[in-house]
Amino acid sequence: MAGKTFPWTTALVPWADGPQYTRGVHDGLPLLSFGCAPRDKLATYRQLRAMGLRPNGCDPVAVLYGRHNRSGKTWFASLYLIANAAPVRPMTPAKWTALAKANLARRICCTCGKDPLYVVPTSTHQCWKCFEANENEQNGQAA
Ligand SMILES: [Zn+2]
Repeated sequence: MAGKTFPWTTALVPWADGPQYTRGVHDGLPLLSFGCAPRDKLATYRQLRAMGLRPNGCDPVAVLYGRHNRSGKTWFASLYLIANAAPVRPMTPAKWTALAKANLARRICCTCGKDPLYVVPTSTHQCWKCFEANENEQNGQAA
């Protein structure tokens, strides 16, 4: 299927003053062909994450499309305004507390109830002292 599927049109876009060249409209958003999107103003979700940013609840402002060379299929990607993006949420104190509690629970030996200062194996939930004592006991019985 050769030919211009997406003809060039000019449209007003949120990331620039004045009309910009786009490839029409896709899902109600300006459509941009690969290589035409301003990389300093627009980014895909993955590109935002790579910059330590998140869309901040904002909807994508444009759709990027490209052609996969080998399969010849057209792909689409949502583009977000970098200006509207916010830093990825830092860990809150409550989150740290929850994490510390979870880690502490993983360190408590279920036999002696002590914290051996390392994460006990999930298979036994015992510290090595108790595990070894248990093993020796079993071996002693077997012998
Ligand atoms: Zn123990």
